[in-house]
Amino acid sequence: MTDPKKILVVGAGFAGAVMARELAEQGFWVDVIESREHIAGNCYDPIDKRYNLRVHHYGPHIFHTNSEAIYSYLSRFTQWLPYQHKVEALVEGVGYVPFPINRMTLNRLYHKKLKNRTDVEAFLDRVKEHHKKPDNARHMAENIYGKELVELFFSRYTKKMWALELEELPCSVFARLAVRYDDQSGYFDDSYQAMPAQGYVTLFERLLDHPQIAVHLSEHFDRAMENDYDHVFNSMAIDEYYQNEFGALAYRSIKYQMKSQSNHKQPVPTVNLTDTQPVTRFTDWSLYPSDQKNTSLTTLVTKEIPCSYTDNNNERYYPVKTVDGEPQRRYKQYENLAKMNKKCTFIGRCGQYRYLDMHQVVANSLRLAHNFIQLK
Ligand SMILES: Cc1cc2nc3c(=O)[nH]c(=O)nc-3n(C[C@H](O)[C@H](O)[C@H](O)COP(=O)(O)OP(=O)(O)OC[C@H]3O[C@@H](n4cnc5c(N)ncnc54)[C@H](O)[C@@H]3O)c2cc1C
Repeated sequence: MTDPKKILVVGAGFAGAVMARELAEQGFWVDVIESREHIAGNCYDPIDKRYNLRVHHYGPHIFHTNSEAIYSYLSRFTQWLPYQHKVEALVEGVGYVPFPINRMTLNRLYHKKLKNRTDVEAFLDRVKEHHKKPDNARHMAENIYGKELVELFFSRYTKKMWALELEELPCSVFARLAVRYDDQSGYFDDSYQAMPAQGYVTLFERLLDHPQIAVHLSEHFDRAMENDYDHVFNSMAIDEYYQNEFGALAYRSIKYQMKSQSNHKQPVPTVNLTDTQPVTRFTDWSLYPSDQKNTSLTTLVTKEIPCSYTDNNNERYYPVKTVDGEPQRRYKQYENLAKMNKKCTFIGRCGQYRYLDMHQVVANSLRLAHNFIQLK
């Protein structure tokens, strides 16, 4: 019998952890290296023992998917707490209103009495623009909501989130958001929406708990490591791997400022700020479902301030796509180079330079693992 193959996985986020598990179950020996001091990647959500609150260190992560297969796969490693995510926007002079915009949002903003979907559609028909063949996020948004609502909810928020004008972003950025004509106040429409009952860290501990997986924390990838393995699955930033050969790819980052606050009140777990101040969101961790009991009147609130990744310890959170296609073209050069690299397969959000939700990253790693196993 030949020796089982040795695999290196770079990154202990969803992309790397799912890949490691799939390969280990097929008999491969897998080393997972992770440059941070913890597993779970950006889903890291330890408990703050002072207040018994589970805090997502890299911003709120809500699991949602329409895929029964992905939900069942992850259910091997976690129980779930049902959770329908809700967001409200804080509008100066008005207060909190549901977001995405729905019937109640319009009634509150304009002191209207729109009664049903027909009224909402008629209202939006009056205010909407008619850009022919919209090819950027502003035109797409204005064709639904008109200039005033777009300025209030999307333009200013986009400027602080991406440091770009709405018209510089492709339609795909806006298309991620649900459009509502009724009172539906959920943020997502997916059939499965939940939070891991004992947190993401426990889910990851179980994913990585296999006799053929060894996890090495605080270990940074070095190209020389490739010599010791039959193959590498790598979730690091692809431009960093190739030492910026074609220039650095654009990523947006976020600084998180957490504070304990007494008698803090906000209507939903996460609030979007529509003003021109740099903060985009507030999250009150006591409002998320949890297996912990927070009995204190004090809660923990995280403020998010978007920034360039170079101003935030090179923490790359969001690949940036623009209408002029510049970052996409640059990524294509890296992708072409990667196709010729038989030793390493790039996985995950930074490896594939795509904004991917958790369920999409899991699906990708499952697919890539199965393809790899079939070739062996
Ligand atoms: C602010 C924010 C909010 C989000 N909210 C949601 C949400 O509500 N729902 C949802 O479905 N998705 C959400 N996402 C997306 C979700 O975070 C990703 O889908 C998921 O984390 C991607 O997994 P990954 O393994 O590709 O990346 P990561 O989770 O980033 O893991 C990659 C790991 O690789 C490590 N690494 C990088 N380079 C090296 C190196 N050179 N050597 C060793 N290790 C390295 C990193 O430290 C990191 O731990 C959100 C993302 C962000 C940024």
